[in-house]
Amino acid sequence: MGARLTETHCPYCALQCGMKLSVDHRGVRVIPREFPTNRGALCQKGWTAADLLISHERLTSPLMRERRNEPLRPVSWEQALARIASAFVRIRERYGRDAIGIFGGGGLTNEKVYALGKFARAVLGTRNIDYNGRFCMSSAATAGMMALGLDRGLPFPLEDIPNAEVILLVGANPAETMPPIMQYFNEQQRRGGRLIVADPRTTATARAADLHLQLTPGSDAALANGLLHLVMAQGHLDHEFIATRTTGFEAVRRIAAAYWPERVERLTGVPARLLRKTAHMLGDCRYLMILTARGAEQQSRSVNNVLAFINLALALGKVGRKYCGWGCLTGQGNGQGGREHGQKADQLPGYRRLENPLDREHVARIWKMSPEQLPAPGRSAFELLDSIGTDNGLRALLVIGSNPVISAPDSGRIVRRLSSLDFLAVADIFLSETAELADVVLPVTQWAEEEGTMTNLEGRVIRRRQAIQPPAGARSDLQILAGLAALLGAPGVIADEPRAVFDELRRASAGGVADYAGITYERIDRQEGVFWPCPDKNHPGTPRVFLERFATADGRARFHPVEYEHPAEEPDDEYPLYLTTGRVTAHYQSGAQTRRVAALNASQPEPFVEIHPAIAHDLGIAPNELVRLATRRGAALMRARLTETLRMDTIFAPFHWGEAGCANLLTNPALDPLSRMPEFKVCAARLEKLTPAAVLPMVCSDDRS
Ligand code: SF4
Repeated sequence: MGARLTETHCPYCALQCGMKLSVDHRGVRVIPREFPTNRGALCQKGWTAADLLISHERLTSPLMRERRNEPLRPVSWEQALARIASAFVRIRERYGRDAIGIFGGGGLTNEKVYALGKFARAVLGTRNIDYNGRFCMSSAATAGMMALGLDRGLPFPLEDIPNAEVILLVGANPAETMPPIMQYFNEQQRRGGRLIVADPRTTATARAADLHLQLTPGSDAALANGLLHLVMAQGHLDHEFIATRTTGFEAVRRIAAAYWPERVERLTGVPARLLRKTAHMLGDCRYLMILTARGAEQQSRSVNNVLAFINLALALGKVGRKYCGWGCLTGQGNGQGGREHGQKADQLPGYRRLENPLDREHVARIWKMSPEQLPAPGRSAFELLDSIGTDNGLRALLVIGSNPVISAPDSGRIVRRLSSLDFLAVADIFLSETAELADVVLPVTQWAEEEGTMTNLEGRVIRRRQAIQPPAGARSDLQILAGLAALLGAPGVIADEPRAVFDELRRASAGGVADYAGITYERIDRQEGVFWPCPDKNHPGTPRVFLERFATADGRARFHPVEYEHPAEEPDDEYPLYLTTGRVTAHYQSGAQTRRVAALNASQPEPFVEIHPAIAHDLGIAPNELVRLATRRGAALMRARLTETLRMDTIFAPFHWGEAGCANLLTNPALDPLSRMPEFKVCAARLEKLTPAAVLPMVCSDDRS
């Protein structure tokens, strides 16, 4: 019998590359397929994704422990769900509804995200739900809403990228994080376009660029203001666009006037001559795109960073026009849909707001409850976790599709917080580092074993299709939420079948900012995905937004005056280096999945820190030596990789590993005042050479003691 082929998408990042899964008696095989995002290409994570389905580490039975110091033991589903329900009831009666929290993920399908938000508000009645996308996209989302009235990562499809004459990529390294997307940038350059990359590291993307601006970590807003100063001075402003399609330029102009090139060179480390050259390139072209990513967006002033680059694009009249615009490169697989349908602390489905009475009324009607029963907005992700053990803080937590022990900043503190919960339940496919701390662990189905929709970085809603049966013993997240709802006295409130949930999501999102009302599974199949907003079945979807008006009340984009502010922590005598964190090609997010794929693990098997050879020489550090890396939060052990791709004042550590090599033991939880994004990308650090005898005690040390 021939192989059975199923068209679906990669389980990892927001590019959501198209692939086929070929299933026969030999197992499951990945075959790349032509899809508008990846044009037949996959990165090594995509190629090896089928290994996730056969991992011997897969959880296939619920696990439970009676007391924290006991080991987890297999139990029946009935026992596991009953334990969760009884813990929730007990804690709700004793401490109130808000003592129970939900922590979701940016990789969950739209259906799961919707059901999770409804479960929190309509079943548990808690205001405390947030998700790991807060650590990923929240600053770009906030800035997009403030300036343009809409948060859709890219305002245009990827196919527009090759038409841009100039692209400025800020804090983005797609050549390593989503390699197939480079086809578009490569084509843009082949057609004569220019690619400019702003990044403290000479990444693979920076090496492919025509110009690299190697800025000081955390100086993004100064760079944007400096470029705005120069395009003003060089006469590149689009006065007609500013007058007819925007408001608020005057205040921005006054601020930019103080960012002359020599000052910006001091703030950013980018030579004034390169600033002038960049400004000419930005100002002289007809089609300009400015794309930001986590480098600029994961800082304690990252909404300002993004707003400053949007100001620049607006001043040049390069937003809301063909082959132009500001956009962000979303990271997680459903990072876009995951922030639209209700797992965010302040949000209802369709990007509706919990503070808005009309939004509350609409969603309450769909959920068959009164608007007064809907809770108020809750705590953001880090604040939610950090409230554990405090007065009025969380007492119980359900984590679905996330591994905050690895991905949250100051993770040593997060482990202590999670360990002090009265009750922790985790649903995952593997025993992640967070699941290891749980009282109850629920084994769930994964991408190729279930149906659902995802929304990729373009705002294109696509289908994830089931190719194989899940292992006996695993249940879908929807089944779990439906089962818990029934045990908590709300049978039927959560549907356990993806199509039924999606139909309800469509109604709940109708008329909202992220309107999915006209999107059906069948249309997604016919159209290779449907771009939101899509308000009815006859609407074609919206690949390009803002062409006629911005999504604000008066249709105009908003300038926002932004001053550069220093990062929350700067190098000093004690911690003399900038530490910046990020990803490598072989691993995805917390590594809970990719560290279990043999080929990926072989490619990048252990934590490492990149160090400039001159710094290593000063400290007597040899290549591949184990070094101690310390910040005011804690210390980590990593293998030294010497490279000249870094600035002399900066070291870089990927965050995919746990235990003593966890980079987030070091990162700073200083939060952006608007988006509540932690400062993953900048903190002050110290490197130390280790003697072999010192290694073990160092593993457990706390640098504050
Ligand atoms: Fe494509 Fe991202 Fe999957 Fe790589 S990880 S194959 S870039 S979707």
